[in-house]
Formats: sequence, structure tokens, C-alpha cells
Amino acid sequence: MYNNLCQKDLIRLLLLEKGKDLGLLYQAAMKTRLENCGNAVYLRGLVEFSNHCRNSCLYCGINAENKSLKRYRMSQDEILAVAKEISQRGVKTVVLQSGEDIKMKPLWLAGIIKKIKRNFNLLVTLSVGEHSKEIFALWRKAGADRYLLKIESSTPSFYRNFHPRMSFKRRLNCLKALKKLGYQTGCGNIVGLKDQSLDSLAKDLLFFKKFDFEMLGIGPFIPHRKTLLARVKHGDKNLVLKSIALARLLNKKAYIPATTALGTIGGEKSILDALRAGANVIMPNFTPQKYQKNYSLYDGKKPLAKPGDKGFENLKKEIKKMGMIIL
Ligand code: SAH
Repeated sequence: MYNNLCQKDLIRLLLLEKGKDLGLLYQAAMKTRLENCGNAVYLRGLVEFSNHCRNSCLYCGINAENKSLKRYRMSQDEILAVAKEISQRGVKTVVLQSGEDIKMKPLWLAGIIKKIKRNFNLLVTLSVGEHSKEIFALWRKAGADRYLLKIESSTPSFYRNFHPRMSFKRRLNCLKALKKLGYQTGCGNIVGLKDQSLDSLAKDLLFFKKFDFEMLGIGPFIPHRKTLLARVKHGDKNLVLKSIALARLLNKKAYIPATTALGTIGGEKSILDALRAGANVIMPNFTPQKYQKNYSLYDGKKPLAKPGDKGFENLKKEIKKMGMIIL
């Protein structure tokens, strides 16, 4: 029934309101996840190590136009200390995320990747924006395993509305280069951007399938008070959940996180709802407290608690009740 979903099918399913058909969609997504990925929820330890950024993405609170933001860049020692904590708390992947920080030296990051691999035996995911093939290759050689680069929107004309001075083609070429270098590659979109059509959301889902991405981050747009989109309403939680379910049906084996943005608009319940809709990754936030508030992609950001902390252990219980286990 959900095989070979085409653009028209996807739009019809994205339009579903509460009721039997919507329940069936979530059930199908759950079943697909169970058959292809088992009942595990994978943990990824997130470190937001720099909020410097050269870009001006209209939705993003750390964009270069935000002059009132206090900028930071963690030192190598700080990052390694966090990596150590991540491994001590039983998490097997560290995600190093930052803005497009032009002062960050590629060799500096390569050194950190090498040390993390050598000392802590963690898998390393990078999420540091667009760079040249040579730099991607350098980090891959240093030991980076995965790379996240969301396309944000796969409709070039729509992408352009939100990304002044950036190029859709360049972003796409980055994704292709990452795949070629053997990174496990993650993509994704933002749901609920101003004037986004269901047609364009459906295209995003087909785009993810076409490139067969191994990871898919799908989250709601949330406004940030210091951006041009400050007064735009946040994305619809149910539309995000439906997108996650459809992404699962199309990319059966993908790692799909219950994103922090989703947790921000709907709390713990929406994290659980995302897992019920086919997601299978959660990302506890390990960014040191003193920096966390300055990695303000959007207002009200609610970082997910770390394993061992109360908030996380409560969530873990709920996840167990759903019949899933945290790995
Ligand atoms: N500079 C890196 C990492 C960006 S931050 C890169 O370009 O890939 C990680 C993600 O946060 C982005 O890909 C974007 O999808 C998301 N994000 C940023 N601002 C947001 C907002 N206001 N609402 C929802 N998601 C947002």
C-alpha cells in the first residue's frame, strides 16, 4: 500500500488529519522501522563547539547578521573533555556541530578527530557546513565517519529565499562529494518555513530517497527573535511527524533523529511521538552549559538531557514502555 509512493501520494498523506488513515500511516512506519532497523534507539552525543558563522540563513539565530550574539569557539581541550564524558556515559557517537566558522582551521579539526578516535573509540559525525572536497577528504582521512548537511529545502527556488549568497548547487555538490568519500551521509529539511508548500515538502522526501541518504534530520522551523523571520509561526508538529513517517517508508534503513527542534515545540511527548512515527535516534546535548545558551539556533531551544541525568532517565523509561531499547 505504501510502496512506490509518488509525489501525489505523498501530498495526500501529508494532508491526513487525525483519524484511521493517519493511524495506519504511523503503524506502517513503525513496522518498517522494526523490520529494517530493529527496536533500537541510537544515541548521538551532540557538541556545539562553535557558533561563529559566515552565512546568513534567514531562519537561523546564529547567522552572521546577529551582531548581539556572544560568539564562542571551544578549545581542543574542552572538546576532548566533552568527548571523554560522552564515552564515559556510554554513548558511542560524538556529533561535532558548528556554524560555518571561517576561522576554524581544517587541520585543527582533523587533529581533534584523530585524538577522539585514538583515545575514546567513538564514531565521529561532523556537522560543520559546506567545505571543499579536499577538506572533506582531510577530515575523512583523520577518521570522521559521518557527515550531516541538511539541504533544508530541495526546491532550488525556495532554497534561495532563505539562503542569501549561498548556492543550492554547491550544497548539492557537497553532499555528492561526501558520499563519494565514503562518509555515512545525512541530509534533511526544515518543515514549516514561510510559504512552504506541501508540494515542496513532498519533493524533499523524494529527494532524500533518490540520494538514499543514511541519515535524515527532519525538524520544524522555530523562529528566533533576532532574525527576519522572528514573527513567523513555528512549524506544525503533526506535519513534522507525518514527514518522519514518510521518510521512514521511503528510506527504510535510515537513521532518523527525533530532533531537538521537535522536542522544543512539543516537549518529551513529541520525542516519543517521533519514535512512534519511525524515528530511531536521539541526541543528548553535551555542549558545556556556559556555551549552550549562545548556540541559539531558535528561541526556547530545549537541549535533550544527558544519559545519567534525571530528564534522560525518565525519557528512557518511557522509551522502554514503548518496546524500544536505547543503545
Ligand atoms: N552550519 C552547519 C550546521 C547548521 S545548524 C550546516 O550548515 O550544516 C544545524 C541545523 O539547524 C540546520 O541544518 C538547520 O536545519 C537547523 N536550524 C537552524 N535554524 C533553525 C530554526 N530557526 N528552526 C529550525 N531549525 C533550524
